[in-house]
Amino acid sequence: MIRDLPGLTLSELTTELKSRQRALELLKWFGSLSALPAELPETVPGVSHRVWKTFREQHGVTQLKVKERSLSADGTTKYALEVDGANVETVRIPAKGRSTICISSQAGCTRKCVFCATKELGFIRQLKAEEMVAQYLLARFEAPADVPARNVVFMGMGEPMDNLDEVLRAVELLTQSPFPQLRHQSVTVSTSGVLPGMVRFLKESKASLALSLNATTDEVRTRVMPQNKTWPIEALLGALRDAAKVDPDRDTFVEYVLFKDVNDTDADADRLVELLRGLPARVNLIPYNPYPGTGLETPSLERVQQFHERVVKQGQLCLVRWPRGREIAAACGQLVLAQEGQPGFMPRSSLAR
Ligand code: SAH
Repeated sequence: MIRDLPGLTLSELTTELKSRQRALELLKWFGSLSALPAELPETVPGVSHRVWKTFREQHGVTQLKVKERSLSADGTTKYALEVDGANVETVRIPAKGRSTICISSQAGCTRKCVFCATKELGFIRQLKAEEMVAQYLLARFEAPADVPARNVVFMGMGEPMDNLDEVLRAVELLTQSPFPQLRHQSVTVSTSGVLPGMVRFLKESKASLALSLNATTDEVRTRVMPQNKTWPIEALLGALRDAAKVDPDRDTFVEYVLFKDVNDTDADADRLVELLRGLPARVNLIPYNPYPGTGLETPSLERVQQFHERVVKQGQLCLVRWPRGREIAAACGQLVLAQEGQPGFMPRSSLAR
């Protein structure tokens, strides 16, 4: 497959440009830009004209069309993008001193989680590594200087483990020097728990992993995540335990979306702590971001806080991820929800906590 920038690794660029020095110069040039270029330039400093001409005849730059930028009051920006005919979404979330870019790994999704709006799209197509990295670069170039884009989470549309070759390549590209040079710990790949892919990822990548657990019994998990029939809780946690023995330094997160009266009881909090005992994992609690027709509801603020306290008191590291960008439908599980004036728009009041 002929790849466009930013889809080529340093070693591939070295082969194509017939020198590692030229490959490094090209990546440095890329890092000096302030936006994704529309095409490759006629010359790149430090790359011989003759070699560049051949490279330029064979490769281009991945193009993302920004169909819409939605800015939320909390500073979260959602990009509705068109990538080679497919619609995907990317979210930039500013925090203290840095931004996190949430990127999509598929257009639509191969999975059918009951609570996630992306499943409504069905599966459209796999994204290529360069299309994932370009999402990050687009948002990075636009990030305000006081909140540089240092983190990437694969928590947009799609199931990364169902497109693992391209996701692994994207991780390699994101962490490569001299650009964009993200740290492996700052790149988190989130999975709904596709076990074979997860096991391979844990073997082949140093990036952080997030497992979307979302329940403490197989009965409830199968109800909200049907694939749990194939890969139940203990199999998933067993894989995390095995990986922790080999690589105790990897950051592992357990995502837990809280649904009112479904998985938010005291017994769930206690079971969650039990399930994770001995695992060096941090729990992220995510209050459910509702969308109509799922039959699921968001717990009250008090319930979320009580659940959190109960988990923390038992010695388990745990944070609450309060929703960001809900009013622009940029929060977890809301990608594809429409904006005001479009079919399917939900007024802000229907998303209120
Ligand atoms: N397929 C991957 C990544 C995309 S989902 C995965 O499942 O992990 C990213 C995160 O958003 C997951 O932790 C998922 O459980 C969570 N999520 C999905 N829908 C949600 C919703 N409606 N409200 C809150 N979190 C949601």
